[in-house]
Amino acid sequence: MSDLHNLSVKALASLLQTKEVSAVEVATRFLARMGGNPHNAFLDIDSEVTLAQARASDVKLANGTAGPLEGVPVAHKDVFVTRDFATTAGSKILSGYRSPFDATVVQRLRTAGMVTLGKLNCDEFAMGSANENSAYGPVQNPWDTARVPGGSSGGSAAAVAAGLAPAATGTDTGGSIRQPASFCGITGIKPTYGRASRYGMIAYASSLDQAGPMARSAEDCALLLSAMCGADLDRDSTSLDMPTEDFSASLNNSLEGLRIGIPKEFFGEGLHADVRAAVDGALREYEKLGAKLVPISLPRTELSIPVYYIIAPAEASSNLSRFDGVKFGHRAKDYTDLVDMYKKTRAEGFGNEVKRRIMTGAYVLSHGYYDAYYLQAQKIRRMIADDFQNAFKECDVIAGPVAPSVAWKFGENANDPVADYLADIFTLPASLAGLPGMSVPAGFGAGGMPVGLQLIGNYFKEAQLLNAAHRLQQATDFHLQKPAGVYTP
Ligand code: GLN
Repeated sequence: MSDLHNLSVKALASLLQTKEVSAVEVATRFLARMGGNPHNAFLDIDSEVTLAQARASDVKLANGTAGPLEGVPVAHKDVFVTRDFATTAGSKILSGYRSPFDATVVQRLRTAGMVTLGKLNCDEFAMGSANENSAYGPVQNPWDTARVPGGSSGGSAAAVAAGLAPAATGTDTGGSIRQPASFCGITGIKPTYGRASRYGMIAYASSLDQAGPMARSAEDCALLLSAMCGADLDRDSTSLDMPTEDFSASLNNSLEGLRIGIPKEFFGEGLHADVRAAVDGALREYEKLGAKLVPISLPRTELSIPVYYIIAPAEASSNLSRFDGVKFGHRAKDYTDLVDMYKKTRAEGFGNEVKRRIMTGAYVLSHGYYDAYYLQAQKIRRMIADDFQNAFKECDVIAGPVAPSVAWKFGENANDPVADYLADIFTLPASLAGLPGMSVPAGFGAGGMPVGLQLIGNYFKEAQLLNAAHRLQQATDFHLQKPAGVYTP
């Protein structure tokens, strides 16, 4: 079984349940692929821990107590705290930190039987769109190592695309699951805000942060999402009190008569022609599958950029105050008193983008500017959410590009943070509204780089998104294509 790393989560789960392969064999194959840390995708690997979990899975498979995903490997974005692996959130300020507990999402996937392969590189505190903000070096895009993998879940997307892991977790505050999935040619879904517990997910912007799965196909994402989501009312006050759902149940539903809303604002000047062509191709496939395209408008799409880049930094400036050198990770060596220790620790520990956001956030919240910036942004956020509800009167799902372009080259935007912010334009609206959104491979654009189609659903309509994505994947093979990369063994 030398091609275990090419198999889907679904196929691996079934081979494990029928004992055609063992969890140790599967884990060993992926650990071999991960050797030398291709693309700098991982931040922590500990083969002893992984193999011990795999051995425990084999025992459960043998004695009939196996979970539905028993023995299937998964790797976690380094924003989820883990007991058995280090957690840094891509920041120097958390170097050497080890959590005393597992995040709920990590724990739930363990309960389903998944074996942890390690922790994945990401932008520092999930702030970024290219993975160039990691304190531990950027991740390469497996399709072209001179290009970024997207961000902030760049390690997650690269690992799945390169066959280093069959699936990964990501977090999405303003696009961090969807955009790297699009840039690396894989599938990713951000569920409705509140579906997955944020407990143990290092907070960036708490009113926006959501966890979700990244894998090759919608079918695999459905399996992981069902295991990840569920009420966690005692530990996350924004967790939704809803029963767990089997997101695989309706994957094969017919799309006959499905109304797909096409927001005109997603197809304006900023959209690159190659991305547009791939997205148009996917929309034509949907028409062949019986769906109807309906023109709609999301009139405040452009405003989502300033609104997000006020609200997210505001929340970040508060959330990141807990990193002061006292409780976690890095502490400055020489200091004169407590305040000096805080200042030096934070000056040394945080990278430039994180500092920029803390300063922006403190500014927009400060007395005298609060009404002009933060309060205005909150009001427009509500209007953006209302715009979606108006649109959903005319359509069932919304489709468009995930990002205006394919993955860019390293360094292209490095000295221009605003260029990265602008590239988030199509993912921010759904985040601000708390709606589920996903990225589905839709073809290839400039430089042979993957292009993702974004699907946005109404609240709690993840099953409908996964159904639409799965049907497209039955009709196309973009999600099955793999980069050429050289890996061991
Ligand atoms: N690119 C956006 C940002 O930098 C989104 C990141 C995310 O979703 N975590 O904030």
